This record gives sequence, C-alpha cells and structure tokens, in this order.
Amino acid sequence: MKQPVLSVISPVHCESGNIIPFLDAVEEQIRPLGLSYEIILIDDGSMDGSWRLMRQEAERRPCLRCLRFSRNFGKEAALAAGIDAAGGEAVICMDSDLQHPPSLIPAMVRIWQRDEADIVEAVKTARQKESLLNRILAGLFYKTYAFLTTEDIEGASDFKLIDREAVDALKQLGETRVFFRGMTQWLGFRRAALPFCPPERNSGVGKWSFLAKLRLALDSLTAYSARPLSIVFVLFLLFCLFSVLTGGEALLTWLRGEAMTGFTTVILLILISSASILAAICVLGLYIRQIFYEAKRRPRYLVSERAGREESRRRERVSGKKSV
Ligand code: UDP
Ligand code: MG
Repeated sequence: MKQPVLSVISPVHCESGNIIPFLDAVEEQIRPLGLSYEIILIDDGSMDGSWRLMRQEAERRPCLRCLRFSRNFGKEAALAAGIDAAGGEAVICMDSDLQHPPSLIPAMVRIWQRDEADIVEAVKTARQKESLLNRILAGLFYKTYAFLTTEDIEGASDFKLIDREAVDALKQLGETRVFFRGMTQWLGFRRAALPFCPPERNSGVGKWSFLAKLRLALDSLTAYSARPLSIVFVLFLLFCLFSVLTGGEALLTWLRGEAMTGFTTVILLILISSASILAAICVLGLYIRQIFYEAKRRPRYLVSERAGREESRRRERVSGKKSV
C-alpha cells in the first residue's frame, strides 16, 4: 500500500462537538496543497459519543483512520499511538479542539518542503485563558524544567510537523511514560518555529485536572533530568560544612568551660535537617516511582477498536482475506 505524504494525528477525549469542525478545517487546509494525506484520530477513552461520530466520519472520509483506546490512557499516550500508526513522510500532531489552528498547516508544510527544518514547531506567543494559580504553577514548571534539563520548552506546544527521519528516531525512545514535548526536544534535528496565539476551545471544556497536570509535571521533571539527585548531594555537602562549623563552635565553648547557650540554634538545626532529609527522601521517591513504572515494561496504550477504510484493508491483509 502506498503511504501518504502527510499524516495528521490528533488525540480525542470527549470532543464530540469538535470532531467534524476539526476534520473539515484540517481537510480545507491540506487539500489545496495537492499532497496525499491521512488523518488519524485516537479516541482516548471518550464517554460522550465521540467514537460513534468518528466511525461515521470514517465511512464518509477515505483519508480518515480512527483508533480507540480500551480506556483513558492520557493525551501523551494517544500522541504516541498516532506516531506509531502514521505512515506519512511528515507527521503533524495537533489537538482536536481547534486550539491548534489548522490555518498554520500550509506554512508548516512549506518550511518542511523547502527542507529548512526537520521539526516545525508552533510556539505559543501567549498562554490560553486560565486561572492565576495555573499560570504561576506553569511558569514555575517551565523555569524548573529549563534549570534541570537546560532545555527551554516554555511556549512549546504539541502542535508540530515532524519529518519521517525524526519520527523514526522518536519511535526508538523506549520509555513507557511519555512526555511528548520533552521527547521531541531531546531529539534535536533541524528545527523551525512558527508563532501562534491559541484561540479559545471550539466547544467543550479542557479535560486536564490540576492533579493530572501536577503528575505530568513531576514525571517529566524526573524523567528528563537526574539533577535533583545531584542537588541532594550538594545539600549533603552544605550540611557537612554547617555541622563542622557549629560543632566546632560548641566544642570550643565547652572547652572554655562556658555554659552552653544557643537553644534557638538547636531548634533551627533540627528543623532544617529534618526538612532536608524529608526533601531528599521525596526526590528519591520520585525517581523510584519512575523506575517502578518503567521496570514493568507495560505497553503505553491498548487499542480496542479501529475504524476507517485503510484500517479494514489492513485487518483483511493481516487475517489473509482478499482486500477489496
Ligand atoms: N486529550 C486526550 N486525553 C486526555 C485529555 C485530553 O486525548 O485525557 C486531548 C483532547 O481531546 C485535546 C487535547 O488532548 O485534543 C488537549 O486537551 P485539552 O484541550 O483538554 O488541554 P489543553 O488545551 O488545556 O492543554
Ligand atoms: Mg485544548
């Protein structure tokens, strides 16, 4: 079977109000380019009839292939499934809620066709509307990420065009728990950026809970940097120095026969040392958590259903039936 030039992959979690406008908008932008293309939607455990709609659309649109996860595995896993399924020479990853404007696709493809970059990233010039707390925490996360990994992903989005060579490299990264932005950043390759300002969602509300965001932040910090472990070691050295100084001073006063003072110092010492020990244990715990998940080697996702003409042809070939 001939592979298309472009693959557009998009995760879907309860987006029944967005699927058709999304598909229309993407096709409208890609068709004039005159390139063969496929669109792959990955249903990440939707409960709102998204899958039924996706199957219906797959009947109408020859370019559409749909995968359905056996449950909600998260957006990062859905992107991984799209990357695995895509057959195009370039793969475009984007959200299905139209916050990643399809109007950017022609510019992305042009940069790629001119061979100016292997990865064309859409970079946010402003953040979408969100609470002040979310904004502050996101800022803190990006600063910490940049400090720990020395890679700045502030403004980076999951809206990217990735050349086949980089896609194949991405598929070689074997971790079970994936963080798409971190992984594509790690790849390197020639990169180009296209600025964009994310519009409001076309329909529905964002599905990321605060806890889910926090989990992803902690996972990505510990998955892409071992620096926190080095920081624990630096903390240990500082404590050694501090102990020698305060211990020396205590010994001196004792030798001079002066009464021991410094009750406040003792309290402070206990507080600081126990907080540091707890912090060190927490850091170790985060890494053990990563090892725990990775050691199991579980698949990143499970696909329970597929839809689309290409998918049925594939299935028939696998089961040995004659293709129609
Ligand atoms: N999404 C997903 N699984 C989830 C949550 C979200 O596949 O568990 C999809 C969602 O359908 C959308 C994209 O990921 O296409 C971005 O999600 P959302 O708009 O909720 O996040 P935000 O725009 O706030 O980053
Ligand atoms: Mg969104």
